[in-house]
Amino acid sequence: MPELPEVEIVRRGLERYVVGRTIETVQALHPRAVRRHAAGPDDFAAAAAGREVSGALRRGKYLWLPVGEDALLAHLGMSGQLLIGDPLRPLSPHVRVRLTFTDAGPDLRFSDQRTFGHLSLVAGGAVLPGPIAHIAPDPLEPLFDLAAVTARIRARRSGIKRALLDQSLVSGIGNIYADEALWRAQLHWARPSQQVRPAAITRLFGAVQEVFAESLSAGGTSFDSLYVNVNGQSGYFERALNVYGRAGQPCRRCGSPIRRDPFMNRSAFSCPKCQPRPRAGL
Ligand SMILES: [Zn+2]
Repeated sequence: MPELPEVEIVRRGLERYVVGRTIETVQALHPRAVRRHAAGPDDFAAAAAGREVSGALRRGKYLWLPVGEDALLAHLGMSGQLLIGDPLRPLSPHVRVRLTFTDAGPDLRFSDQRTFGHLSLVAGGAVLPGPIAHIAPDPLEPLFDLAAVTARIRARRSGIKRALLDQSLVSGIGNIYADEALWRAQLHWARPSQQVRPAAITRLFGAVQEVFAESLSAGGTSFDSLYVNVNGQSGYFERALNVYGRAGQPCRRCGSPIRRDPFMNRSAFSCPKCQPRPRAGL
């Protein structure tokens, strides 16, 4: 799953290559890619054609391009890519949607191997598309309210990692960056949210912002070469990961072997010494 830094890198690419251009044609090549567009693929294509893109925005892992009052909304799912390139290059079999522009310059292709991603045109969605209005601001947005998020975390009855992954509480944090931020803040993933002190939550979000900033400057994390920028290039932040995917390797802070625990059908990676297990309940 691409996480916030990977999606932000795609947003920056769209901002650079697509904003200010007018969409000429839209080909919806696979109905599944536009399944969230209730009126169907033909309506999607007709509604998007001829529109000028005025921005490239993001909330959590959703991206949208304002077109007039409306929005072209995108989610990359597990394997989606938004790729800019020569409009004459061959069409790969994974391209689900293709947009050309009136200036005959580079086209935009939505390629998605596993087809969990989707595009839709949301009427009146330019400022914030309705389908994602319930998603909380992410820690990189000016609207992110640390005091309010801290209060909500401390009111929860779940482990701290589970709270970090709850997109209605704070968006954009997934499994990889949650583990990395918890390691930096020296908190165990199962610590009951109610017991984490406000100062530790402040430290944790400082760590989230740090790890996001470092990942952005490395071009994101690319585990299976599916997470790429709009030019098809992978990031290299995985080399800088401290715990995620490092089970059995020495902690970069204390040398203890990194531990992997099962967590919500996935894994949680942590250092047994820097992030001691909470005493109660485990
Ligand atoms: Zn350690």
